[in-house]
Amino acid sequence: MAERPDACALVTGASRGIGAATAKSLARDGWPVAVNYRSDADGAAAVVAEIEASGGRAVALGADVASPEAADELLTGAESHFGVPVLALVNNAGIAADNLISMLGDEEWQRVIDTNLTGAFRLTRRALKSMLRARFGRIVNISSVVGLRANPGQANYAAAKAGLIAMTKTVTVEVARRGITANAVAPGWIDTDMTADVESELLSHVPARRAGTPEEVAACVSFLASDAAAYVNGAVLAVDGGLAA
Ligand code: NDP
Repeated sequence: MAERPDACALVTGASRGIGAATAKSLARDGWPVAVNYRSDADGAAAVVAEIEASGGRAVALGADVASPEAADELLTGAESHFGVPVLALVNNAGIAADNLISMLGDEEWQRVIDTNLTGAFRLTRRALKSMLRARFGRIVNISSVVGLRANPGQANYAAAKAGLIAMTKTVTVEVARRGITANAVAPGWIDTDMTADVESELLSHVPARRAGTPEEVAACVSFLASDAAAYVNGAVLAVDGGLAA
């Protein structure tokens, strides 16, 4: 593993699930990785320990991405720990609070938008400072198949995830000429805590007839963060077993 000497990565919501797999994958690619969590400090510490045991470098940073201070805390925390700028940002932290729209409360709406969309906006705005200076950057936003295709009971989640795609494309056209790429990944049904309660009969709607793994999403994020993806801008990469096809 060749370590990137001049940059580190920040993955939000990396104490478990897709974020944890992504942090490990980026560490294998040579990125020192800041592993953000909201409440699961033990989970984040286990991710850090696994990365370090494989010869990588990582630090756990607690912050709620929905809070206005989180972007500055996380970027400053990562940059002061590793001594290099955050040049790969993965906006992965996300929650769902499902309800049919006629019963969806203002609080459920706002909490999902604040976490899944506004948090990514503030982190992107803050991370771009270093990326513009470095004339290099990789931003990967974890959207969802639900940002592309309707799912009853998820108006708040869908609005946030579709908003992430639109934001990704806007960021791309603003900063592509500075060597910065922004792309979205749209996972389908991935086997994590978030989908633990989903009825397994629904898998019959997935052309691949199985759930995906966090590692299958992480592999796509690793590609989008790599030098090989330098000309991939504003793409939405579906990782969904064909669900959105
Ligand atoms: P999990 O529920 O397994 O994990 C969520 C992660 O996000 C945890 O690490 C959690 O931290 C963190 N998190 C939640 N809220 C915050 C917050 N406010 N600030 C910081 N961290 C937070 O989710 P998945 O791994 O399944 O999902 C990851 C992303 O992928 C989400 O954006 C989700 O919407 C998206 N996605 C998932 C799909 C799936 O099928 N699983 C499908 C499509 C998209 P902690 O444990 O510390 O609370």
